[in-house]
Amino acid sequence: MRILITGGAGFIGSHLAEAYLENGNEVYIIDNLSTGSLDNLAHLKERSAYQKRLFVHVDSILNRDVMLELVGTCDIVHHLAAAVGVEFILDHPMESITTNIQGTEVVLELCNKFKKRVLIASTSEVYGKHTHAPLVETDNIIYGPSSKFRWSYAASKLMDEFMALAYYRTTGLKVCIVRLFNTVGPRQTGAYGMVIPRLVGQALRNEPLTVYGDGNQTRTFTYVKDVVGAFVRLVENEDAFGQVLNIGGIEEISILALARRIIAACDSSSEIQFIPYDKAFGKDFEDMQRRVPGIDKIQNLIGFTPETSLDVILSKVTNYLRKRTDTV
Ligand code: UDP
Repeated sequence: MRILITGGAGFIGSHLAEAYLENGNEVYIIDNLSTGSLDNLAHLKERSAYQKRLFVHVDSILNRDVMLELVGTCDIVHHLAAAVGVEFILDHPMESITTNIQGTEVVLELCNKFKKRVLIASTSEVYGKHTHAPLVETDNIIYGPSSKFRWSYAASKLMDEFMALAYYRTTGLKVCIVRLFNTVGPRQTGAYGMVIPRLVGQALRNEPLTVYGDGNQTRTFTYVKDVVGAFVRLVENEDAFGQVLNIGGIEEISILALARRIIAACDSSSEIQFIPYDKAFGKDFEDMQRRVPGIDKIQNLIGFTPETSLDVILSKVTNYLRKRTDTV
C-alpha cells in the first residue's frame, strides 16, 4: 500500500514511517521541517531496502496542489503535521493556529474528494484543565481564557476534531481521531519544551533539571512505538471511523518524581531546580495539573495495551541521547 504521512519527518511521523516500511509499504512524507528534521529519516534513507519505497517532500500541507497529488496517489493518510510543543505554540501563536486549522481543512477536503481513509492526530490538550482521572472521550472540556495562549492549541485541535466528525457525518469519510497523551521515545527533541528529552539531556550533562512550578503536576507517558502500532491497526478497522480515541499509558507520575527517576537512571550528579511558571513561560501561562487517559475504548476496539513501561522508555531515551553530542 501507499501511505501518506503529513509531518512524517517529525518524531512520531518518522516512527510511523518506519513501521510501514518494515511491512513492505511505500511511504510518502510531506513535512515543512518547522519542528521536524530530515535527520529523523536518515536511518531509513540509508537502508537500501527502503530507498525505493520512501518519498520525502519538503513542503507545506497548505500547498494544495502538492497535497492534491499526494492524497490522490496514496491509499491511506495519517495526518500528523501540526504545530506542537507548548513552547513552540507560545512562540509562534499565529503560525500554529493556521497550520492546525487550515492544514487539517486541506487534508480532510482532499481525503473526502478521493475517498481515502485518514487518521487525524489530536491531543490530550483538548481536554483542558481537568484534574480528575482518568480522562475519557465523552468528558466535558474546560479551557482557560483566550488571554492564555496555551489554550489556542487545544482549541485549534478541537476544531480539527469537529471538522473531521462533520465530514464523517455528512459524507461518510472514513476518518478516525486519536488523542495522544505525552508520546515519548528516541528522536523526540527537547527543543520545544518536551519534558523527557529535556530532563534526560540535562541529567546526562550533569546540569540542574528544570522542574516547572512545584513539580506536582502529573503526566502519563506513552512509548512512541506503542502509539504508531495503534495507528496502523486503527486505519484498518472499519469500527474506528467516526470515533475519537485516547491513546495513552497507564503510569501516572509527577514531574518531580520523574526528575528524580531520570537522575537515578542516568547516574547523574544533577540537582533539581524549581522554576516558577512565569519565569519559564511568561505571565500568561497555565499548566494542566493532571493528565491520565482512560483507554478502555481503544482497548475494546483494537486490544491496545501500552506495553512499554516508563523505566524502559527512560532507558531507551537515555541510550539514544547518550549517543548524540547535542543532547537538548
Ligand atoms: N516541564 C518541566 N520542565 C521542563 C519541561 C517541561 O517541568 O523543562 C513540565 C511542563 O510544565 C509540564 C510537563 O513537564 O507540566 C510536561 O511538559 P511537556 O511540554 O513535555 O508536555 P505537555 O504535557 O505540557 O504538553
